[in-house]
Amino acid sequence: MKYVIIGVGAAGIMAAKTIRKADKESSLTMISLDAQVHSRCMLHKYLSHERNEKQLSFIPENFFEENQIIWNKAQSVKQLHVKEKQVELLDGTRVEYDKLLIATGANSFIPPVGNLREAKNVFGLRHLSDAQAIDQSAKKAENIVIIGSGLVGLDAAYGLMETGKNVSIVEMADRILPVQLDKTAAKEYQKRFESAGAKFYLGRKAAETKMDENGKITTVILDNGEELKSDLIIVAAGVRSATAGFETEEIIVDRGMKVDEFMQTGAKDVYAAGDVTGLSGIWPNAQKQGETAALNMMGGRVPYTDRFAAKNTINFFGLNSLCVGEIVPKETDVVIAREDASNYKRVIIRDGKVAGVLLQGDISHAGIWQYLIKNQISVAGIKKDIFALNFSDFYGIKENGEYVWNF
Ligand SMILES: Cc1cc2nc3c(=O)[nH]c(=O)nc-3n(C[C@H](O)[C@H](O)[C@H](O)COP(=O)(O)OP(=O)(O)OC[C@H]3O[C@@H](n4cnc5c(N)ncnc54)[C@H](O)[C@@H]3O)c2cc1C
Repeated sequence: MKYVIIGVGAAGIMAAKTIRKADKESSLTMISLDAQVHSRCMLHKYLSHERNEKQLSFIPENFFEENQIIWNKAQSVKQLHVKEKQVELLDGTRVEYDKLLIATGANSFIPPVGNLREAKNVFGLRHLSDAQAIDQSAKKAENIVIIGSGLVGLDAAYGLMETGKNVSIVEMADRILPVQLDKTAAKEYQKRFESAGAKFYLGRKAAETKMDENGKITTVILDNGEELKSDLIIVAAGVRSATAGFETEEIIVDRGMKVDEFMQTGAKDVYAAGDVTGLSGIWPNAQKQGETAALNMMGGRVPYTDRFAAKNTINFFGLNSLCVGEIVPKETDVVIAREDASNYKRVIIRDGKVAGVLLQGDISHAGIWQYLIKNQISVAGIKKDIFALNFSDFYGIKENGEYVWNF
């Protein structure tokens, strides 16, 4: 059997490990644009100079040799030929497969605003090559503008602030981390970033730019006309699945590369996993999808069933947050919140079941919430303080599968 995996990120590496655990004999080839395996979650540590390139790797040094994997690194896929069962690389090489996994992740999306797309001092933050380019550019930069205050934008801000840089962050929502947090929890991080010197422009969009004769943007103009001086701009305004070269009749790309519950695309023997599928944008889910795809490539029938598409852990300035499920309540939801000097908790209850939870400060008892959300357990009848719930509150499951509370 010839296995080919495109991508050496969370999904690709997990798939390779899963195949090698069960099958030491088949040929296994990996192809990646990355010249070096690295954790994207650690890129801010590179920007802050806490880790060098080597320290971003999440596999042992001899991973490929030890697992007898042929690694085509720093190679881009040009075109997939499903009929011939071949992957064509940019240099013209063709790699044959019996089973193929596409785990190409995503690329930063640069919006068509002013000269953002063509200027020489504008970067996304997705790959080590982006972080290296930002680091070089930051050496001479006085004013850094970051567009987007999601996890990636704040990671970039945090990393660069650690090296003493001034950063301005533009966010079109009325709060930072709008996908992960509500206003109360977001404010706690905003205060910490501001104390460290960051400036926020909330409820504002980048609308125009001024570019000099060297092709560098010198000013970002906001939608209220305000002008921000800029030597370096980082755009963290979302991603697009890396699907270029995989356009075929059989492979459907919508928000991501479409897969069935077994992580198979519409093309025979072609699977996809990780951020490229658009199912999720977090590391543990990419790994789980990589593992599931690999099991199915080896002949299994294992469905992918992770309902935590929206689960995030956040830590900036030593403050932890965890959010699972829904963040924005509907009008008909019940919202219960509790706050003290160092902790904030908020739960959203929809139709008697927990739809989302947000914990900030002490996140140590997150397990019970994940369990309630994942298993869609009714909390409608509980009389005790909902924040004091724990696993011992269950006394069992009825024959019909219904959970029963011990109160
Ligand atoms: C700055 C940043 C911070 C993050 N922080 C967190 C966090 O704290 N927690 C969390 O859970 N998640 C975090 N994430 C998200 C997490 O990193 C991703 O969900 C995860 O990396 C997805 O893994 P993947 O294998 O799908 O894709 P990737 O890790 O992106 O890997 C894609 C692979 O495909 C290769 N590739 C792409 N196109 C081609 C091509 N045409 N030809 C050949 N090879 C190609 C690339 O070289 C790469 O090896 C963060 C992401 C970023 C960018």
